[in-house]
Amino acid sequence: MRGLYIGRFQPYHLGHQAVLEKIADEVDEIVIVIGSAQESHTAENPFTGGERMEMIYAALGKADLRKRCIVTTLQDINRNSLWVTHLRSMVPCFDVVYSNNPLVVRLFSEAKVTVKKPPLYQRELYSGTAIRNLMRQDGNWTDLVPGNVAKFIRQINGVERLCIVPKSDSFEMPSHE
Ligand code: NAD
Repeated sequence: MRGLYIGRFQPYHLGHQAVLEKIADEVDEIVIVIGSAQESHTAENPFTGGERMEMIYAALGKADLRKRCIVTTLQDINRNSLWVTHLRSMVPCFDVVYSNNPLVVRLFSEAKVTVKKPPLYQRELYSGTAIRNLMRQDGNWTDLVPGNVAKFIRQINGVERLCIVPKSDSFEMPSHE
């Protein structure tokens, strides 16, 4: 039995890891799909597809799940109605999908694929958005991601990139009040 786990993983955090460990209890193999693989260097998607793959492999090594996981990337397409077909044409076959993303759940359900919704683990804490905000605000984000992922993000100066990318070089008129 093979499960599919799709996410943007911007960055890969301990909530993702908890879900992965739960999936690993239920299936023999897991296809981990890094979605929006074409995106990088933006406030919402700071890390490249390849960097996110490095993060996942770093985390898998520690959890000893590496042998049972296939990690791959997938670019977005501009037509949701064709997305499941697009995904199927690009990733290894699978029997069941794990997701809590409403659009992902909807598209797979319409395609008659079995979808399981894993429990959420402290979503307010373990969320990509919250972690990216902490990174920008010099907060304590390192406890929210696997240790090897924090190490990798530091190695690539990921926090510096995240702080720089939303900035504009346009001239702003001084306000006269
Ligand atoms: P994500 O990284 O935000 O989350 C991945 C999964 O982990 C989700 O199921 C989410 O619910 C779960 N998760 C996150 N935090 C959790 C926590 N604390 N506890 C438990 N579970 C937690 O990624 P995402 O946004 O769900 O990724 C979906 C991908 O599918 C995106 O890349 C999106 O672009 C892609 N997509 C593309 C199209 C298209 O191209 N037309 C259509 C649909 C989806």
